[in-house]
Amino acid sequence: HEVNLVSFCQNILKQLKQVYKREITLEYDTSSLIVHADELKLKQVIIILLDNAMKYSQEKIEVFLEQKEQFAIIRVKDYGIGIPQEEIHNIFERFYRVDKARSRETGGTGLGLHIAKSIMKLHKGEIEIECNEGSGTTVKLLLPK
Ligand code: ATP
Repeated sequence: HEVNLVSFCQNILKQLKQVYKREITLEYDTSSLIVHADELKLKQVIIILLDNAMKYSQEKIEVFLEQKEQFAIIRVKDYGIGIPQEEIHNIFERFYRVDKARSRETGGTGLGLHIAKSIMKLHKGEIEIECNEGSGTTVKLLLPK
């Protein structure tokens, strides 16, 4: 289905802001960013990323949409504990969690990012982790247009 990522993300954020009681901002450089995607599955990916940002950070969360020639890009950025560089290749593994003792308090199974990655694969897209300078995590989703 054709999905306009701008209104799609606006709707998801509107729903989640009420549940999370956290500031979540959305920025975009175009009012219409169309991709072909399974809406429910894509929504699941975005919720997984926002849920992680909620669990592993305390401050506001930012979502950015960007239009590239061949890809639409969604970034979910937080200012939390971050992911150590040497763990980045592990975190997409099933059941993998960084620092089990620390993250036990926050709950979770370690499945979220694994599921997100399989859904992105289904869409012939990609998921990447970008380390923030300073602190925090940015997860980047690439979706073919
Ligand atoms: P769930 O399956 O409920 O999402 P989870 O958060 O443990 O549980 P993943 O979403 O797969 O599982 O994430 C794997 C691990 O990657 C997490 O346990 C956490 O250590 C790390 N991680 C994921 N997102 C972030 C983030 N935004 N900031 C810091 N660490 C993160």
